[in-house]
Amino acid sequence: MIIDLRSDTVTKPTTEMLQAMMAATVGDDVYGEDTTVNALEHQLANDFGMEAGLFCPTGTMTNQIAIRVQARPATEVICADNAHVFKYEGGGIAANTGAQARLVASTYGKISAPQIAEVINAEDVHFPRTALVCLENTSNRGGGSIYTLAEMNEVANLCKQHKLPLHLDGARIYNALAEGDYTSKHLGNIFNSISVCLSKGLGAPVGSVLLGSKEMIHEAKRVRKLMGGGMRQAGYLAAAGIYALKHHVAGLKQDHQHAKQVADVLCNNNLVVSMMPVVTNIIIFKLKDANTADALQQQLKQQHILANKVSATELRFVFHLDVTPTMVNTLCSVMETFKG
Ligand SMILES: *Cc1c(COP(=O)(O)O)cnc(C)c1O
Repeated sequence: MIIDLRSDTVTKPTTEMLQAMMAATVGDDVYGEDTTVNALEHQLANDFGMEAGLFCPTGTMTNQIAIRVQARPATEVICADNAHVFKYEGGGIAANTGAQARLVASTYGKISAPQIAEVINAEDVHFPRTALVCLENTSNRGGGSIYTLAEMNEVANLCKQHKLPLHLDGARIYNALAEGDYTSKHLGNIFNSISVCLSKGLGAPVGSVLLGSKEMIHEAKRVRKLMGGGMRQAGYLAAAGIYALKHHVAGLKQDHQHAKQVADVLCNNNLVVSMMPVVTNIIIFKLKDANTADALQQQLKQQHILANKVSATELRFVFHLDVTPTMVNTLCSVMETFKG
């Protein structure tokens, strides 16, 4: 038995999910004829109170499309210094849009309205025009932190004042919704565009949906095509998403409880010097001695526990659908044996 905590992307479809996929009715989605894709897009758009949705293979693609349709070459996209759109999308802001990222020093992946206000450029030929603001909720590199409704509203008000669109990288938005003081409808009101991933905690094998206005999604469809993301009988994949939204949202709370259970054990482990606040399904902890992340990663691997290194001294555990309560107990006991 392998306990795979490297990411919540490692989940495999359940038998029931596979059955739902097999039973899907499909058509050519490039012609707009895949009824299952259309159903998924409509369902998510309705859930978030947005006009339209666009099914894409990955969250990287939904984010990059959102940036491409809302920013232009030689403009700036404001985001956190550790944002996925900046750090983990292969330089896509520059390559796909010709824009540059304007980074804001984040606190656990979160950036505030006053910080953003400081980096919105004035109209001056020297300065790139500010085009877009991106928030990430939950924040991956911030250890699964979440924004509050008030924090997001403050950013949205600032963006409105400056006529700037606001994008949400909601790769793990259902994890945020499980803990946050807001609903999906609130988010639809706050953001101009939202990326929702189905292949993280929700457990679908692939898929991400971009939400926005009808007009924006019309443009987004063009960009998806040029990026090579126009899929044909994609309903088989969309069916997994529909299944996940129905059956796998409620379980996210348990993932969060698992993370807290393990965090409590790690708190008392003298190998661990600090830990980011554990709010959702991610634990990022720092080890006492420099460069011990490699060693602990190897030791864990010998016990069939897989974890990713975040830096030379930090490891990350991500909890998901395929991590059972028994596995969590095993992990806790194994960590006990690693006490310094
Ligand atoms: C995983 C992730 C994405 C999208 O990743 P893909 O692997 O391209 O689906 C986007 N943003 C965040 C914060 C993520 O964690």
